[in-house]
Amino acid sequence: MPENIQKKIEDLRTELHQHNYNYYTLDEPSISDFEFDALLKELQELEEQHPEYHDANSPTLRVGGEVTKNFPTVRHRFRMYSLDNSYDFNDLEDWEKRIQKAVNEPVEFVAELKYDGASISILYENGLLKEAVTRGDGFQGDEITPNVRTISDIPLQLKGDYPQRFFIRGEIYLTRKNFEKINKRREEEGFDPFMNPRNTASGSLKIQDSAEVRKRGLSSVLYQFISEENPAKTHWELLQRTRSWGFRISEQMKLCRNLDEVKEFITFWDGERHQLGFDIDGIVVKVNSLAQQRNLGYTAKSPRWAMAHKFKAEKVETELQKVTYQVGRTGAITPVANLKPVLLAGTVVKRASLHNEEIIKKLDLHEHDCVFVEKGGEIIPKIVGINLEKRKPGSSEIEYIKNCPECGTELLKIEDQAIHFCPNDLHCPPQVVGRMIHYVSRKALNIENLGAETIEQLYRAKLVENPADFYALTRAQLLPLERMADRSAQNIIEGIEKSKEIPFEKVLYGIGIKHVGETVAKKLAKNFSSIDDLKNATAEELVQVEDIGGKIAESIAAFFSNQENLLVIERLKSYGVQLEKGENTDELLSNVLKGRTFLFTGKLSLFTRDEAEEMVEKHGGKNISAVSKNLNYLVVGEKAGSKLKKAQDIGTIEVLDEQQFLDLIKK
Ligand code: AMP
Ligand code: ZN
Repeated sequence: MPENIQKKIEDLRTELHQHNYNYYTLDEPSISDFEFDALLKELQELEEQHPEYHDANSPTLRVGGEVTKNFPTVRHRFRMYSLDNSYDFNDLEDWEKRIQKAVNEPVEFVAELKYDGASISILYENGLLKEAVTRGDGFQGDEITPNVRTISDIPLQLKGDYPQRFFIRGEIYLTRKNFEKINKRREEEGFDPFMNPRNTASGSLKIQDSAEVRKRGLSSVLYQFISEENPAKTHWELLQRTRSWGFRISEQMKLCRNLDEVKEFITFWDGERHQLGFDIDGIVVKVNSLAQQRNLGYTAKSPRWAMAHKFKAEKVETELQKVTYQVGRTGAITPVANLKPVLLAGTVVKRASLHNEEIIKKLDLHEHDCVFVEKGGEIIPKIVGINLEKRKPGSSEIEYIKNCPECGTELLKIEDQAIHFCPNDLHCPPQVVGRMIHYVSRKALNIENLGAETIEQLYRAKLVENPADFYALTRAQLLPLERMADRSAQNIIEGIEKSKEIPFEKVLYGIGIKHVGETVAKKLAKNFSSIDDLKNATAEELVQVEDIGGKIAESIAAFFSNQENLLVIERLKSYGVQLEKGENTDELLSNVLKGRTFLFTGKLSLFTRDEAEEMVEKHGGKNISAVSKNLNYLVVGEKAGSKLKKAQDIGTIEVLDEQQFLDLIKK
């Protein structure tokens, strides 16, 4: 029987790997999403019942969930070089001449898109994804394997005739579509939008919670195979081989017999790049023959056999109509240049961000100036210069506003941030609305059907101005709102009612104390069992909680010293919102580890450290962070080091391997 189960699990994994490949890499799904989810669920259940068949590369683990505190630093076995840049065809021709001189035989090139993302190096062993490392400084980078595992088009398990051990490098990037999706969600949840897909992609790789990384919807493209020995003679052939093992390589690559064909490719994509669904910032040209590549070698910084051709950012001239100011949900002010509409990089541009007062001063922007607008990686174009010849005589400088355009309050400036903000957080309309939108957002009270637009309508109708007001809403009040159907009104009321079951930690996050994000809220809820406990906590008590510093303690104190906030809290309480820890928020599975302390060390293979620590807590035990006389059990994985030695020296500590730890719980 157990053998059957193991086989069933393995078959399901193989099948799901293949479907993933069909879907994400080939873009040719062979089953419906529904069927896929059903298979995945079946596997998930079997894996839960049989943790002994755990496999770090299981398709179920793509959903993420592993949390990494500090990414370990890893030295690159082969250095990750950067690329030399060329900006025009002359540079390229010079490069080709140098190559011809060195190799003295015909040279073929491969021309590829230069994806604008974050580069990555991934190690595969025996067909399994083993380790993924960022570029870092080229010599060493951060190991971010759990995050890379969540990227849908990166194979966890290879197919076909792959080499036993090799590195593959490529770029992790975000499509424009997914970038916009992320920003839409951020705005719904009251966060400022991200600036551009590239920074968002590289930032996403460093998120601690891999389940969050998964949600970002990153993509990969692989462009270099590296190992001790090469299974092919040319770069082109190598990439085709990697495709057959399951990797995604670029569809827009060209094998060029000479430099003219390379130039043709560059010219074509310079014009067409805006039609792609993702950003590129140029073309990379590589010598195709691996023997020639070896012959050419490297300079101190980059390979001599490759060259990046960078595209020039597109630039147009247009007239500034006026500068307006937006007030964000957090009170931050953003100046915006309203422009005479002009065509740029395939879209009509009407506005450009000016970021802050300093940028306006640096540009020396005057009213009705003719400005040069450029579109780089940013979605919102920026003003890069002024055509002074066209400046109208006597036109005055743009003067930054002193008062909030929404509520009239005098603006403040944060010293080291160059940004102005409106301090009237309790009554400035966009901030009031922003707080309510935050309150209903998914990670807070998760009130479905109550979107940003509805909240704005309710606010304008003077029906709500703080989260407590939601609970007094009636259907009759909702129905007269524009586009409000009977059914939706009912859903909203039900959603609000249901939010009374949301646990304390999420409510704590939802009420919007400055600097109290999701993680901080969780930690606070762990240490203070009710909102009143938190309110009465002294600064000393607060900073004793892990990760809570003086700044957070201060903003908590400020929040509770405000009468209006206290009133909202009292009202939320009276409506039955969870403002204290419920009975079963920390539900215990058993008490078998009661009174015993644990510490994990070395490389664990049956479970992650976080999972292990959670198991200890769920079974009534306690985790401690250092080896001391207070420690009862040290659980060791592979390559345990100084902690093990210290524990043996103390002598009273029981040393367990992972399986023995699991047995302990099973008892
Ligand atoms: P740079 O950062 O300007 O020195 O350019 C080098 C970077 O270009 C590499 O580190 C890669 O991350 C990136 N890149 C994007 N597409 C490619 C490609 N097709 N081949 C090689 N590198 C690429
Ligand atoms: Zn204001």
